[in-house]
Amino acid sequence: MTEDTPTVTLGRFFEQAREGTLTGIRCGGCGALAVPPKALCPECGARRWEAVPLSGEGTIDSYTIIRVAPRAHADDAPYAIAAVRLREGVSLLGRVVDVPLNALAVGLPVRFRPIVVKDRSAVGFGPA
Ligand SMILES: [Zn+2]
Repeated sequence: MTEDTPTVTLGRFFEQAREGTLTGIRCGGCGALAVPPKALCPECGARRWEAVPLSGEGTIDSYTIIRVAPRAHADDAPYAIAAVRLREGVSLLGRVVDVPLNALAVGLPVRFRPIVVKDRSAVGFGPA
């Protein structure tokens, strides 16, 4: 029994995200698009992935304003976490940056922007 490893690991995903590139993966089994990378296709359970560069452009599907943050992010609160539907049709959670909280709206166009703090990177979205 052989198991193919995903072509894009989570580590590699964040490495590329830090460089400003958003990479999704497309399932070789059913064609479903996933981001960030997963070990198994959530749609069909296959492990055959193909890396797909994503535009990083999308619109806010829903959002939550975090007013009381975990201790590590306490100084940043309030801030917003949004589920963004990318142009390619897949949704991704990220932190909203440089958008005033009162300007947040479902359907607002945003663009992927890496958030790099020290040696950690995270998914962020800024104004389109
Ligand atoms: Zn699949």
